[in-house]
Amino acid sequence: MKKRLVSGIQPSGQLHLGNYLGALRQWVELQDKYDCYFFLADYHALTSQPSANQLRENIDHTAAMLLAIGLDPKSATLFFQSAIPEHTELAWILSSLVGLGQLNRMTQYKQKADRAGQNAGLYTYPILMAADILLYGAEAVPVGEDQIQHIELTREIARSFNQHYGEVFSPPKPILNRFSRIMALNDPTKKMSKSVPGSAIGLLDEDNQIIRTIRRAVTDSDRQARTPSPALANLFTLLEAFGDLDQVRQMTKQREEGRLSYSELKEQLSEDIINALSPIKKAYKQFSSDKAELRRIYLPGEKKARATAQETLARVKKIIGISS
Ligand code: ATP
Ligand code: MN
Repeated sequence: MKKRLVSGIQPSGQLHLGNYLGALRQWVELQDKYDCYFFLADYHALTSQPSANQLRENIDHTAAMLLAIGLDPKSATLFFQSAIPEHTELAWILSSLVGLGQLNRMTQYKQKADRAGQNAGLYTYPILMAADILLYGAEAVPVGEDQIQHIELTREIARSFNQHYGEVFSPPKPILNRFSRIMALNDPTKKMSKSVPGSAIGLLDEDNQIIRTIRRAVTDSDRQARTPSPALANLFTLLEAFGDLDQVRQMTKQREEGRLSYSELKEQLSEDIINALSPIKKAYKQFSSDKAELRRIYLPGEKKARATAQETLARVKKIIGISS
């Protein structure tokens, strides 16, 4: 039997290079090798308090995007989180086993609460995420580095549940790749995020927009430095992700010898990114042209995910004494 993987993405804005490299591109690579459950985390997206129109727009965008990057409903089980009420039900059941101290440690809450205000959804978000994962008995979760702490908490929650009631859940592991932490182009101390303006290159950005963002990207002031600045290292990571390996080697050597032209690096990088995104944009146009059809593509995955989720929740309800 294939190992089971679960992962989700929030419809909280335009998907960007960080999402693509840290998570989505891996999903596509993994979809045939594993039994994959990938979902649109629409309930999670409420934590940033979007208007209804904004949320609807983001959901349509994300639904079309997941298909445009190459996820195939014949290979992976694709669905919307909100279509499976067992996610929120299990989250409630788990929440009584989670200490406030555990939630208080979550660094993402601290960062986001500064921007979005301290709402309870943002605070308990990691419990819903634990439910997302444990509901499907996933062995592993392909994510970016910013989610490691939440997966660690999921493992703790799984262990607490098992200790309190009996063995039901197996603690999942994260799956990371070399590109699991893409930094903001305008500030290399922060991660690239949908919700931080100016930090990202969107997967649908126009070519000239991409060129402009890269041209404005922070580099460093000390050309002779032995180790690259975090900003420059981030540009090199992107070059490695999208470019040709010989090119990367050559530019790395030039950098080490203190003769790298930053404008050449940026031109090359823009070109590589534009080339990589162009087929995605084309596919996106097709998938987003018919919204009803787009929604239908997710129905078989929804049916399958629901059946799995119901099975787990029935077991859980029995073992906790809610049903007999
Ligand atoms: P938000 O700012 O609303 O939280 P986000 O850009 O962080 O949005 P999410 O939907 O929260 O996107 O995350 C989707 C996936 O993308 C997760 O696996 C996350 O770890 C990954 N991811 C997000 N940002 C980056 C990044 N800068 N580098 C690598 N992976 C990332
Ligand atoms: Mn996030």
